[in-house]
Amino acid sequence: DPALFEAHDLVKHFRSRRGVVQAVNGVSLSIPRGRTVGLVGESGSGKSTVARLALRLLEPTSGTLSFDGADLGAASGAELRRLRRRMQIVFQDPHGSLNPRMTVLQAVGEPLVVHRIARGAALADRVVELLERVGLGARDLNRYAHQFSGGQAQRIGIARALATDPELIVCDEAVSALDVSVQAQVLNLLRSLQAERGLSYLFIAHDLNVVRYMSDEVCVMYLGEIVERGDGDAVLRDPQHPYTRMLVSAVPDLATAGPADEVTPVGEVPSPIDPPPGCRFHTRCPHAEAACRDERPELRRVVADRDVACLLAGPRTSEAVRS
Ligand code: SF4
Ligand code: MG
Repeated sequence: DPALFEAHDLVKHFRSRRGVVQAVNGVSLSIPRGRTVGLVGESGSGKSTVARLALRLLEPTSGTLSFDGADLGAASGAELRRLRRRMQIVFQDPHGSLNPRMTVLQAVGEPLVVHRIARGAALADRVVELLERVGLGARDLNRYAHQFSGGQAQRIGIARALATDPELIVCDEAVSALDVSVQAQVLNLLRSLQAERGLSYLFIAHDLNVVRYMSDEVCVMYLGEIVERGDGDAVLRDPQHPYTRMLVSAVPDLATAGPADEVTPVGEVPSPIDPPPGCRFHTRCPHAEAACRDERPELRRVVADRDVACLLAGPRTSEAVRS
């Protein structure tokens, strides 16, 4: 079964005053229909850039994107608009991402107008339906985003994302700004919407517990690269990459369900301007050897259903280590 969404070897380098920022450096992703792929890593790992590249809100420096078999990377004009209707995004800051001058009716209705799905009385009916599905209602139509709590505002953001009846929703730290008690409610809403509509999610977060709760597959990012990929529970219960182990060890209650505090790994993420050569993690890795400074580890299958980008991972390839 072909994936709904695929990204292959995505690269995004930005020019900045201090040099070239290597924000994303060869990321490949595959999201099956009705499934959730989680993307986890510290801030600065390039997760949000991947989110924007996936929807072509940003143009990649290189790499390919496909959606339901169509070449999303090459699409333009009417074809790109048709594809965009089928993929949406929910941002971290629900208040900041909603226009403060728009009523709820305008904010949730906007995609319906832009994509010419509904207008007039039919538009209002459709918006009420969407609001009711996320736990709000007709009484909220003429209110403004700032009149809602963070959790309610994020429900409005989700209603807006659902308006065009998309197949893929990118959630970029969608619950990170919310109180822990509210996070679970919003996560459960996202899960029930997935079950009911067969949605696919690219679910981005720094919180390992949140990502594990939501994801079928987890990809761990470090400095613009995926360093580990596999079944979500398996990756976080038995991490193989030294960076994943560092993240997991910083969350003592990972074994228990529910959202946790932000991870506090050892040392700082180096700058994506002029990143470390060889393995990008070697400046923080407790197992680094001489070869790690020279050789860039490829993401490779090391055990069943697990890809790891570490020279020392899995069945040891001694040539790679000694060269
Ligand atoms: Fe650590 Fe070397 Fe593996 Fe990189 S390649 S994670 S530095 S052991
Ligand atoms: Mg981010």
